[in-house]
Amino acid sequence: HHAKRREKSICPYTQTMRHALHRRQRMTERLNAAISGHQLALYFQPQVDLASGRLTGAEALCRWYDAEWGWVSPGEFIPLAEERGLIRALGDWVLEESARQLLAWREKPEGGLPGRLSINISAQQFADPELTRHIAQLTAGVSPSAIALELTESDFMRDPDQAVEITHTMRQAGYALSIDDFGTGYSSLSYLRRFAADALKIDISFVREMLENKNDRAIVQTIIAMAKALEMKTVAEGVETRDQANLLAEMGCNEAQGYWFGRPLPADEFAAQWLTT
Ligand code: C2E
Ligand code: MG
Ligand code: MG
Ligand code: MG
Repeated sequence: HHAKRREKSICPYTQTMRHALHRRQRMTERLNAAISGHQLALYFQPQVDLASGRLTGAEALCRWYDAEWGWVSPGEFIPLAEERGLIRALGDWVLEESARQLLAWREKPEGGLPGRLSINISAQQFADPELTRHIAQLTAGVSPSAIALELTESDFMRDPDQAVEITHTMRQAGYALSIDDFGTGYSSLSYLRRFAADALKIDISFVREMLENKNDRAIVQTIIAMAKALEMKTVAEGVETRDQANLLAEMGCNEAQGYWFGRPLPADEFAAQWLTT
């Protein structure tokens, strides 16, 4: 009886854990329903050339609005989808919707998206040896030259030899390839050269304090120099201020993405703001 009381006294902790598990389980079910019911949305964030300020493309970012929870962050539902085996279905939808949107924009009098649409690909999609063909099927009607695929640095390093092979297949097919969240994934320099990526996306964590923190600034400068030497372009993530944008331009960073230039927007708002002549 005493033991039972003790158990009860640690209950708040167990209850929190049980609650978290329950939420994840329910979230898995609702996410599954949202994917098959096409209730996800794609938002688009502008990418700009730092020297000219011109639009060079956009990144497609997945959004999920749940009736009960409201907006659920991709930082929560993407890892969940990966863990619960839903990421392929989600990724397929993202590819199809991206293609649909690119074609729809092309119909407008203002013309289509300049440059490329960047699409995030998760590790499990990347593990599919047929990925390149699969992407081509899901984006039929859109030229590979209108698409850039983003893979995080850590995903590349899971199976670097396979990554080298797939990246070459992708490049041969005409897709551009960006290494996302660069600087956080411990890639070896010898592999970096062999990945044949077109761009390194400098992780937001280095950009955030680059004005105040000279170590972060040094890392950004080093990434830019290294990318140049390897003939890749650099895209800075999470640029929120004019000063960051100016410094990055001075440092020779090619492109940027961030709230300073524009937030991710639903397709129609993105088009109204960015695809006008
Ligand atoms: P990511 O690919 O590195 O995307 C950039 C993230 O930075 C996005 O977060 C974007 O909204 C956010 N961001 C952009 N500018 C700024 C800024 O100035 N300040 C700050 N603080 N943040 C900024 P989001 O949309 O929450 O997505 C988070 C991550 O979820 C993405 O990181 C990506 O890894 C993943 N993700 C999103 N959509 C998809 C998708 O369709 N498929 C896959 N596999 N992953 C996705
Ligand atoms: Mg990305
Ligand atoms: Mg990123
Ligand atoms: Mg990120």
